[in-house]
Amino acid sequence: MNNPELEQSTQIAFFASSPKIMVEELEKVEIKSENFDSQMACLQYFSYILSWDIVNARFFYYKYQRLVELELIGKEMTKFLKLVFENKHSELIKGCDKLCEILNTIPVYKKWSNELKSRVADHLKNLVENNFTSISAARLSQYGGQPQDKAFVKIEEREHREIELDGEVDTKYGEQVKFIKSYLTHNSFTQIIYIKSKMQQKEVDETLEEVKTIKAITPKEIKKIVKPQFEANPELFYPTKVFDKFGFTRCKCPKCGAYFWRHTDKKITCGDSNCEGKYSFIGVGTGKGAKGNKITYADAWNGFKKSLTSARVPCTAIDRYPVVARWRNDVDYVAAGIYCFQPFCVTGEMDPPANPLICPQFCVRFNDLDNIGLTGRHYSGFIMLGIQTFNYPEKYVFFKEECVEFNYRWLTEELEINPDDITFIEDVWAGGGNLGPSVEYFVNGLEVGNMVFMQYKYFHDGSYEELPIKIIDTGIGLERIPWLINGSPTSYHDVFAGAFAYLSEKLQVQYSNEVWKAFGPYSCLLNVDEIENVDKTWEYISTQIGYDVPTIKKEIEQLKDMYIILDHTRTVMMVVTDGSLPSNVGGGSNIRNIIRRVFAVLKKNSWWEKLGMDGLLQLFQEHKNDLAKLYGPFGEYKSFDLIIKQEYERWAKTDDDKKVKLEKLLKQKNNQLSIDDWIFAMSTHGIPADTISQISKLPIPGNLYAELADRAARITKAPEAILYNTVHLPETVNLYYQTPKDGKFNAKIVTIFSNVQQQNLPNIVILNQSAFYPFGGGQDYDQGWLTIQGERHFVNNVQKVGKVVLHILDKPLSDPIDTYVNQEILAEIDLDRRTILRNHHTATHIVFAACRRVLGPHVWQNGAHKSVNNAHLDITHFAPLTKEQEQNIENEVNKIILSARQINKGFMSKSDAEKEYGFRLYQGGIVPGNELRVVNIEGIDVEACCGTHCDSTSEVGWVRILKTQKLQDGVVRLYYVAGVKTIEVLNSEGEMINQLVKLWSISKNQLVEEGSKIFQEKKHYETAYNSIKAELIKSQMKYVIDGPNLKTIIQSNETNPTAYFSEIGKYIQQLKDSKKGLIFVADTFLYGAFGDGNFNVEELSKQIEEEGTQLKVNKQNKISVKDGKKCIQVNDVLTFSVLGKFNKNKVLKYLKDLQFALF
Ligand SMILES: [Zn+2]
Ligand SMILES: [Zn+2]
Repeated sequence: MNNPELEQSTQIAFFASSPKIMVEELEKVEIKSENFDSQMACLQYFSYILSWDIVNARFFYYKYQRLVELELIGKEMTKFLKLVFENKHSELIKGCDKLCEILNTIPVYKKWSNELKSRVADHLKNLVENNFTSISAARLSQYGGQPQDKAFVKIEEREHREIELDGEVDTKYGEQVKFIKSYLTHNSFTQIIYIKSKMQQKEVDETLEEVKTIKAITPKEIKKIVKPQFEANPELFYPTKVFDKFGFTRCKCPKCGAYFWRHTDKKITCGDSNCEGKYSFIGVGTGKGAKGNKITYADAWNGFKKSLTSARVPCTAIDRYPVVARWRNDVDYVAAGIYCFQPFCVTGEMDPPANPLICPQFCVRFNDLDNIGLTGRHYSGFIMLGIQTFNYPEKYVFFKEECVEFNYRWLTEELEINPDDITFIEDVWAGGGNLGPSVEYFVNGLEVGNMVFMQYKYFHDGSYEELPIKIIDTGIGLERIPWLINGSPTSYHDVFAGAFAYLSEKLQVQYSNEVWKAFGPYSCLLNVDEIENVDKTWEYISTQIGYDVPTIKKEIEQLKDMYIILDHTRTVMMVVTDGSLPSNVGGGSNIRNIIRRVFAVLKKNSWWEKLGMDGLLQLFQEHKNDLAKLYGPFGEYKSFDLIIKQEYERWAKTDDDKKVKLEKLLKQKNNQLSIDDWIFAMSTHGIPADTISQISKLPIPGNLYAELADRAARITKAPEAILYNTVHLPETVNLYYQTPKDGKFNAKIVTIFSNVQQQNLPNIVILNQSAFYPFGGGQDYDQGWLTIQGERHFVNNVQKVGKVVLHILDKPLSDPIDTYVNQEILAEIDLDRRTILRNHHTATHIVFAACRRVLGPHVWQNGAHKSVNNAHLDITHFAPLTKEQEQNIENEVNKIILSARQINKGFMSKSDAEKEYGFRLYQGGIVPGNELRVVNIEGIDVEACCGTHCDSTSEVGWVRILKTQKLQDGVVRLYYVAGVKTIEVLNSEGEMINQLVKLWSISKNQLVEEGSKIFQEKKHYETAYNSIKAELIKSQMKYVIDGPNLKTIIQSNETNPTAYFSEIGKYIQQLKDSKKGLIFVADTFLYGAFGDGNFNVEELSKQIEEEGTQLKVNKQNKISVKDGKKCIQVNDVLTFSVLGKFNKNKVLKYLKDLQFALF
């Protein structure tokens, strides 16, 4: 060999102990010269083979084929590789032997032949174990098939040999795919490779939910797609006739580009305050208000009611729904009127309470908190006047044209608004899988209402189709109506009438109506989500109204704080009264946030002294009195005051403690907080934003609350993607309430669906009728078998989409789908599974009733899951359960079971049931249908429930509570088993006791005493052992520090490095002074300490890493050491730990080479 580059790299390659390192080193050698050495090419080629980088090897071969083939060994290696690629597994060992024969004749290759043999053996083992079918799969298992990868690759034989990726792919994985792709384009690959291992399949099943959300198109995206289509054809999508009829013409807003309808040419912009620049009604009023006829908040609802209930197609006014959305799984609170009728009225599975209807629905939203008190129109809790109309194929009510007409008549006739003041803006609405045109209307710069016409259903691929049921959802902010009519400075003036009078009297807040009147029209500009520069906006307002910024701010600040208190307390009152609790996660965290904000604002202004707890509690009462004019008197809610007092105590008690934490955080962050820091301080330390702002002197970030609400929404419940379109299919006839004793029934196949989550394999069977229980109400689905054309298929999963039940088979059907349609099949249900699920489900009703009895009536069901192994129930409760409470609940449950209560199941009309039992019926969520299936455990519990239940409580057998845990503030989870599962648990508990008794040779009743004795002894020995360990380390350190060697290896028999972490700090200064270092080498970790900080731990870990694994390195360059009571910091030193799989001998050799001495 005369090539210097080659010489260098061969040396590296042959001294390196792993093929991986060899490859890495070889890659560093640049290949420049034309007369590239063929031996070098073969060597590199071989190094790829040896490290089983088959794809690269092949790629390399094609690149340097001419050179490789000059060598005999090159040809043999290619032959061998071909066997690997063509999956001729049976010939592989023979091929390897042949290659090794040649290797053995060439000195430089000889030492690698054994390595190659073990590689081949590994490879074959890998294929078998992972159910891989090909070499590429095996390759992927090394790079892409790591457990953290959710994706898998499918390569099919196609003309262009494309690679399809399913799901998301990380870069490393993607890199690998790129290699395969280039490989495929480089040669005539003949075999269809279908890469999918059993292991990966399982992961896909487990992440079903995640895959679903990945596939869904967002409402924003679909809006963007369809908006141009709608705009181009207004007469197809918008109610243009009615606009014509009332003398409106269409034009485009010069400011925002939206299409809108106007009554007069004088209206230049679309009418949105952003385009208009200000509200033009403040101080002058609108419609009847401009003529001197002011209206109250309640009048606004009454006028609306009068107008809509006497419309050409009259609407019915219904009572509001609770603001806590117990009937929905995807949201915590009602944020819009339509939430009350989702999902089932919207899908047509349940009739709405009236049709068409209007409702003054109290709604909450937590994304606009930053704007409250400033813009004059934002609230965390508000009343949305809804007009909801459900048009069924067989019953048309009214749609777009009439809707515009009725809204227009209310505006112009009831409120006497001049048509010239009104504009209608065309828009698109999307949400919950539905889509349609929408029309917003504005009066004098203020958005008054939005009419949404839900007309289409959209799918994950972005396509959409007409819905059989067409729905109108009109939302009107009630708060805006008296404001608009009366021309008050803000809407809060009209809304919080009694509460405002009470609070301003209590707090003695003086304010100038003159500044507010001047500021009011421009308050719309302060929507902090929309403006870029707050200070500039303030300056602009100042020049417009003739007061300087500090004066406006000073005038506004106090009143703004009062409005925040008024808004937040009203929301808290409504949400808590409707049965929710403050918490640190999910929806409840928003409630905690705002109640704490109230406390903080009161404190900041020194108002707490004036108001006090009694005054605050009275404020909630004032809100009730104000709202009674709309909703009628509120019922008594005994725990309310207690909940508020508890929240206050919690907030006040931890205040000082938090201040310290915050100051620490500020110091760490150099007094600059990112939005993440704000959220961290708020959610982890529980410090309200206003307090953070006060202490840090930093302004609250404009988007803080929006971000918080967004994050809370993200961690609670993700929206369900609609993967299957079942709208056109007939409803599956439900047989599961009358499942035959043997679990068998006949049915006909309606159609077969391809499984979107399983490479579109046809394995979803839809029947005309079914006794399979689909997943629902927290109860797991039935399993069983379908005999189709004489072949028995296992039903692995059963889900319901719309009105249709999907039976998902474990394997795809083999014939074309059409051949199955209308086939008669025999179905069998796995009755053992059904019985266990039924017992767990019935037990859940009983556990819930027992919790209410033991803990109190504030307990609501917050979620439940009944699987085959066990069940759990989440309840609302203030504190974790004590062992005693657990025992009491279990006893109560079993007493109920023993009393053999009859369980009556029957259908009742929804309205009768609600009247009789109220919303507590919906513990497990609302149930579709106009008839409710009411499950009544005599004298114990009544719930609307579609699950499978026993006929008597005695059938549940025996319930054992396994454990309870606090899930979040205000929510406790109970795990339990019932029936045969209880026997299993009791048996294993008994077995455990027997084993202990045997092991310790004592009697059962000595167990507790003996156990605690052993535990005490263990603690004692642990202490003794630890001090011996410390002594040992002390003497070892003495040797190192006083000894002659600069670097020392000490072999350790510890199982983890904890002892070193806690002890070595004591010696670090001495190590620093003597410039010494040492490494403890154990079987599973390395721990090092270097006084001069001069050791390359990354290089060490790189050198000793076992292939395919990764070592975890933790290192520190400064250490805090306790010196007496003081804590001192030692800088420029190094301590580290290395954890993971490594070869100990390699470590020792490597360190010896670095002149380390062995202890
Ligand atoms: Zn505009
Ligand atoms: Zn039930």
